[in-house]
Amino acid sequence: MSANQSADRVFVNGAVYTVDAARRWAQAVAVTDGQITAVGTDAEVRELIGPRTRVLDLAGRMLLPGFQDAHVHPVLGGLDMLLCDLHDLSDAADYLRAIRDYAERHPEREWILGGGWSMDAFPGGTPTKEALDEIVPDRPVFLPNRDGHGAWVNSAALKLAGLTRDTPDPVDGRIERDAQGEPSGSLHEGAQDLVGSRSPPPSATDLAEGLRKGQSYLHSLGVTAWQDAIVDAAEWVDNYDSYVHAAGSGELTARVVGALWWDRHRGMEQVGELIEKRAAAGKGRFAATSVKIMQDGVCENFTAAVLEPYLGADGLPTTNRGISFVEPGFLNEVVTRLDAEGFQVHFHAIAERAVREALDSIEAARHANGTNDLRHHIAHIQVVHPADIPRFRKIGAVANAQPLWAAHERQMDELTIPFLGEPRWRWQYPFGSLVAAGAILAMGSDWSVSTPNPLQEIHVGVNRVMPPDYPYGVDTRDVFLPDERLDLPTAIAAFTVGSAYVNHLDGITGSIEAGKRADLVVVDRNLFAHSVDEIAHAKVELTIVDGEPVFATGEFA
Ligand SMILES: [Zn+2]
Repeated sequence: MSANQSADRVFVNGAVYTVDAARRWAQAVAVTDGQITAVGTDAEVRELIGPRTRVLDLAGRMLLPGFQDAHVHPVLGGLDMLLCDLHDLSDAADYLRAIRDYAERHPEREWILGGGWSMDAFPGGTPTKEALDEIVPDRPVFLPNRDGHGAWVNSAALKLAGLTRDTPDPVDGRIERDAQGEPSGSLHEGAQDLVGSRSPPPSATDLAEGLRKGQSYLHSLGVTAWQDAIVDAAEWVDNYDSYVHAAGSGELTARVVGALWWDRHRGMEQVGELIEKRAAAGKGRFAATSVKIMQDGVCENFTAAVLEPYLGADGLPTTNRGISFVEPGFLNEVVTRLDAEGFQVHFHAIAERAVREALDSIEAARHANGTNDLRHHIAHIQVVHPADIPRFRKIGAVANAQPLWAAHERQMDELTIPFLGEPRWRWQYPFGSLVAAGAILAMGSDWSVSTPNPLQEIHVGVNRVMPPDYPYGVDTRDVFLPDERLDLPTAIAAFTVGSAYVNHLDGITGSIEAGKRADLVVVDRNLFAHSVDEIAHAKVELTIVDGEPVFATGEFA
C-alpha cells in the first residue's frame, strides 16, 4: 500500500509475535481489506492511522497468527455440547448424574445420545449396562467415549440391536462380555456400529447447529482454521453438507480443509466418489482435498497396531498385535492411487506398526509417482519406532501431533504403559526427536477427544505435564519423557504455520507478514514473559479472521 492510504484497523503497543523467521517480533500491525499491510514499530504503523482507522491499543498483550488445528472434529464436538455432554466430568458418579439429569430434561428424546466419558473412570476402562439400566431402563442409551473408540450402552440398546451371547464379534471390533458371555455394556471399535447404526442420525438442522456451536467454541479459543479429520463417514457423522452450505452462505468464518473418509469396508471403486465430493466442495472457506485413512485403533483397548505383542496384566507377552484396518499391501496401492489423484492423505496411526505402514505407503507412492506437494500427514503418532523417526523428513511426511496426550495421567499410567512395556512405552509422542530429525510438525487437538484449547495443548507440548485443573485425572507432576519437550517457539510454530502447511494455507496465513490475510489472535499476556508452567493460564481475548472479529471478550467486546 502507499504511505498516504490509511488502514482499516491498526494494533499498537503490543508484543507481536509474528512466527516469521525473518522478523520474530514487532509492536504494531496494520490491516486493510482483511489483509495485513504493515508490520513494524508503533511509530511506523501509527503513520497509517487516518480518520476512519480503528485503533486497538494492545497494552502489552500478545498478538499472534490465529491458531490452526490440524486434526479436529468440530461438528461432533459441537453436537456433543448440544446432547448429553460428559466431556468435562471425570468420574463414574458424575457421569451417571449427568445422564440421569439429561434423560429427565428430555423425555421427548427416543434415544439418549451424546458422550465424552473417559475410560479411566471405570475398572478396566469398561463401564457396564447395569449402571445405565438403573437410571434409564426404558430408552436406549448409546454414549461413545471421548476418543470415539468405544461406546457405553444399556440393556434397552443391546435388546433393540439384537445383541446376545450368541452374537459374534465383528471383524473390526469387540463386544465386551461378562463371565456368562453376555454383552456387558461396552462396545469396542467397529462393534459400536451394531448399536450406533440403529440410533437416529442427527438431522441436517442438528448438524448445522453442531457446526455453529463448534465453530464459535473454537473461535473463542483463538482457532481460525482447521482440518476436520472426518467430514463424511456414515458411521461417525456425515457433516460434509453442513460445511458446503455454511461455506456457500458465508456462515463459515473459519478456513477449513475437510478430510473425506476412506471406507475400509470398500475398495478402490470409492475413489471416483471422493473425486466428485472434492469437486463439489471447494467454495468459500471450505475445501475437501484430504482423505482420512484410519489405520489402527487405540492402545487402551489393544486395537492399536504394534510390532511386538502387547503385554498382559501379568506383564507377560500376549499374542495380540492389534489391528491394521487396511491390509498393508493394499494400503500401499490405495495411497499411491490417492496421491496420483492429487489427494492429501491424512492417516490415523497410533502405534508403531501402523506408523510404519503409513510411512511405507507414502514411500510406495513416492516411488510410483515421484515427489509432489500434497503434504501427507500422520496424526497421533503415539508410539514411533526409533528407526522410523528420520523417515518423516526423508519422505516429507508431516508429523501431526496431539500434544495434550503426552503426559502422565491415569489413562497413560494405568491403561497404556504397563501393556506397552519396556522399552516401548518410552517411544511415545517423540515430538522433540521428530523435530531434531527435521520433521515438519503440525499440531491439533482431536477435540472432542481432548480440549481444543491450543494454549493448554502448547502447555503440554512444552512441559510434558497436564495443565493444572484439567478435568481428567491428573495423578502426577512427573514430566513425561522430558527429552521430548519442545521449546515454546517450536510449539507455537506447530500450532500456527505448521498446521497451515498441512492445510496448504501457509501462503496466506500462519504468520504475521505484510501481504498475508489478517487471521490473528490476541492473548492476554506475552507468553515469553512468563514461566512456561503458566502457559495454560493465558486466555484468548480477541480472534480475527480476514480482518474481522469472530470472537471478542473483556475490553475488546
Ligand atoms: Zn480424530
